[in-house]
Amino acid sequence: MLNQIKGLHHVTSLASGAQSNNDFFTKTLGLRRVKKTVNFDAPDVYHLYYGDGTGAPGSVMTYFPFPNAARGRPGVGEVGTTVFSVPTGTLDEWQTRLASLGVQGLDRETLFGENRLKFDGPDGDGFALVEQADDDRTPWTGNGVSEDLGIRGFHSASMRLADDGATGELLKFMGYEDLGTDGDTRRFAVADGTGANTVDIQTLPGAAHAAQGAGSVHHLAFAVENREKQLEVRKALMDTGYQVTPVIDRDYFWAIYFRTPGGVLFEVATNEPGFDADEDTAHLGEALKLPTQHAHLREKLEQYLEPIEG
Ligand code: ZN
Repeated sequence: MLNQIKGLHHVTSLASGAQSNNDFFTKTLGLRRVKKTVNFDAPDVYHLYYGDGTGAPGSVMTYFPFPNAARGRPGVGEVGTTVFSVPTGTLDEWQTRLASLGVQGLDRETLFGENRLKFDGPDGDGFALVEQADDDRTPWTGNGVSEDLGIRGFHSASMRLADDGATGELLKFMGYEDLGTDGDTRRFAVADGTGANTVDIQTLPGAAHAAQGAGSVHHLAFAVENREKQLEVRKALMDTGYQVTPVIDRDYFWAIYFRTPGGVLFEVATNEPGFDADEDTAHLGEALKLPTQHAHLREKLEQYLEPIEG
């Protein structure tokens, strides 16, 4: 069993518009945009990152907004719900806030004894806020959401799978402990993580497979401290039979990717070097940053990409 993985690092999803995506995560949820860059593999598409004040691992929601992309179809083989942590006793205020801002899909539920508020993202993305008493992470407060209310980072991500067997075994191999079930959901947690220490699997036998599109999670990234630990994880996964990509430099972290038995794409990302690698913490996310190999496209991209206000 591995001990290098420290919870979630980031969650990356698809969107249909950059401005609406930006407004939802900054103005509605009160997160900070910590990076405005482009997709490494398709530089005519933005890669937008939102998180806490520094973009700490475990707080970072990232998006590829493909203009006018069709919505995904929910199903098994994907992350169904991305869950953020908020302080105990704030769900009523959040519900009022989100309702007043026109957020859809608001619904309260209890899972594993925790109160949560479900809501939809701008493309029907599945989200929830869950009350956590002991989350001491510092929220970003620059967008009119007070420190008492602010999102602390991720609490968990919940995958929808046809069965939880093989992916559950993988999570245990990755260092997660099986905490048992509530209804159709099995919970796994890692000790000493980024705060985003939990992964749930909802088992939906017989459900149709998801089709990826706007509002779908593209991949789930797990945090390791550094490149050395990442290589240890890569070797262990490959020795177990997983096909893992080589280490890829993503400018703000190094990444490896592999497909899990249930169909969800996993990434293992380093906490180094972080989002202040190419701009001051005070100005994170303001300027368009381009990967070195796409720097020569700047003039073209600045004309082509939808401008983002705010
Ligand atoms: Zn990623």
